[in-house]
Amino acid sequence: MTIRRRVAAGLLAGAMLLFAAGARKLPKPGWNLFSKDQDIELGRQAAAEMEKQLVVVQDRALTDYVNRIGNRLVTRGELEKYPFSFKVVKEDSINAFALPGGPMYVHTGLVTAAENEGQLAGVLAHELAHVVLRHGTNQASKSQGIAIIATLGGALAGGGGSMLGNLAQLGIGLGANSVLMKYSRGAESDADLLGMHTMAKAGYDPLEMARFFEKLQAEAGRGNNKLVEFFSSHPNPGNRVKAVEKEIPYLPKRTYGQTEGNLSAMKQSIAKLPATPKPVQGQAAPTPKATSQPKIALSGRSQTYQGGGVSFSYPEGFEQQGNGQNGVTLAPKAGVIQGQNGATAIGYGIIAGTSQVQGGKVNLERDTQAFLQQVTQSNQGVKVEAQPQKITIGGSNAYVTTLSSESPFPNTREVDVVITVDRGSMMYYFIYISPQNDYQRFESLYQASARSIQFTQ
Ligand code: ZN
Repeated sequence: MTIRRRVAAGLLAGAMLLFAAGARKLPKPGWNLFSKDQDIELGRQAAAEMEKQLVVVQDRALTDYVNRIGNRLVTRGELEKYPFSFKVVKEDSINAFALPGGPMYVHTGLVTAAENEGQLAGVLAHELAHVVLRHGTNQASKSQGIAIIATLGGALAGGGGSMLGNLAQLGIGLGANSVLMKYSRGAESDADLLGMHTMAKAGYDPLEMARFFEKLQAEAGRGNNKLVEFFSSHPNPGNRVKAVEKEIPYLPKRTYGQTEGNLSAMKQSIAKLPATPKPVQGQAAPTPKATSQPKIALSGRSQTYQGGGVSFSYPEGFEQQGNGQNGVTLAPKAGVIQGQNGATAIGYGIIAGTSQVQGGKVNLERDTQAFLQQVTQSNQGVKVEAQPQKITIGGSNAYVTTLSSESPFPNTREVDVVITVDRGSMMYYFIYISPQNDYQRFESLYQASARSIQFTQ
């Protein structure tokens, strides 16, 4: 009985495999209020806007190389026709991004991080899939629905300004947290799937894409700051190598290994590019320094803070600092270090407040990433020690993320435990700060404080 059932199941599985091989369905673009031409127009406007901020590399050999890889993927990979373009931008972070309708930007940091051309091609194939599957405008359509129709109508009639400007009024902008460029996990799996077929057809080993993504994921887990942007816009759908292995029977058989140029020569010319000055805006001020580390007394008792729609306990001896218009800082006097340039560093303490969110409605994953990015940009030497984890705070969904950064005190770094809470129209944040070498004494009090958080409005 058991044996016969097994045989039958085996036959059935075989039959399904044959059927699947004949009728393998690749992902298709989803519901979309934009036309294909509107994708292209939007991408054109967005590219012009973004290139004001980007440093496009003029190195001919490098640009040609990336274009050869991109064009090989598009033509031999049999992708739907769009006005694709490939530019290299001087950016050390490991990333590449594509705008609706075809313009793609490849960071020099990505070229440097790729171990072989297949890995570089893998990221390009994945980005091309986002374009062809029209994920950006699909997501914008889903997030704004009917309002998009009016916007597109206005832009077409010519009276409503640029499409980009009209979308901005709906809260759809450019950048890492825009629905146009920050993809859902479902979109990620689809881009991986179409990307691996594109790679195989173009003669690149699809496993290289998965291996590279998993390598980057592992590095991000170890706190590599060059990857913050990549994984905030391309969330990991999980098990990428396994997903490719499962797909292998359906992939066209090709010989892999032919390359479009010499990747290591490209890396050498990147290494010789002049350093680009970072824009002053968003640059972190130096951390004010104390000459020695104070001994903060802890009684073990706590007090309660109440205000701004929230209440929570905090260690006795901490005092409210400043006037707390957009939030509150509770810190022991000796934990606050004044710098010469008016900057203040909190070496010990709790910072709580609310953060503006896009569109007036919290998307906790998106807004947490944006907040962490802001923290990373305005502090020195920030590293992610533990990736965001889902928790519940005062009955609301929240994330807790552990960062470390430069401490104002000598001979230690600083622990910064960041909690972000979804309160519907507002995101609350709480940052618990202590020097790393003294964190043990504060940990349980800080945990008790986080557990005590209650929302009063
Ligand atoms: Zn992606």
